Amino acid sequence: MKLSRYIEQIKKLVSLQAIDSELIALKNRMEEAPRHLENLRNELNNLDEQKSYFEERTKLLSEQKKKLQVDIEQDSDKIKKSKNKLMMVSNTKEYHAMMREMDNLEKLNRFREDELNNLLEDLQIHKSKKEELHKELENLQDELATTQATLDSELKQIQDRIKELEKNREQACSNVPVGILSRYNFFKDRLHNPVIVSVRQSVCTGCFISIPPQAFVEIQKGEQIMSCPNCQRLIYWEEHYSGKPETTNA
Ligand SMILES: [Zn+2]
Repeated sequence: MKLSRYIEQIKKLVSLQAIDSELIALKNRMEEAPRHLENLRNELNNLDEQKSYFEERTKLLSEQKKKLQVDIEQDSDKIKKSKNKLMMVSNTKEYHAMMREMDNLEKLNRFREDELNNLLEDLQIHKSKKEELHKELENLQDELATTQATLDSELKQIQDRIKELEKNREQACSNVPVGILSRYNFFKDRLHNPVIVSVRQSVCTGCFISIPPQAFVEIQKGEQIMSCPNCQRLIYWEEHYSGKPETTNA
């Protein structure tokens, strides 16, 4: 093969490679993008569960608060009534018994007041946590909606670009001799992208291992398209071609 023809073929393969690399990146992106959405959804469910927990706790604490308030009210009434009755008691024994009872009720109510104060504090904490979660949830829902919308339009763009690239690929393939193309496609199905790489000095830029001196001499001749003895990728000498792919845009 004449050197100019050899370089021409390398150029075509590199162009094809550029198309394939972009296709692979786009297909990966198509798979990854919904995963981000899935993560957001999981986070949303998680927050929603937390919010439910705090709602439940708030409800329970409110009920406890109500009950305490009723108990305090009722016993305060009892104390008031006892105080009134006390004036009418003439028997000393009965008087002391009533005083003791009133004393006990007052103690009980003081205890309840303390409990109520703690409970009110607790309730306040739970309420603000609940509100905080509510805000977080709203923000996340907004983010999810935006992400969903962006994703839909991004996926549409990706699909359009893939269609365009597949057309370009067909065109690029038709430029490459059948034998070389089938070698390229064979490796494309079996190797990690990219399939064709340059050799810089004597190092394969696909696997970063030096190719043997004899092979390096061969590749500099530019007579036939060679494979890296280590990674099997198609290789070309950097001095023959800078490796800048021809534009793949339509
Ligand atoms: Zn290699």
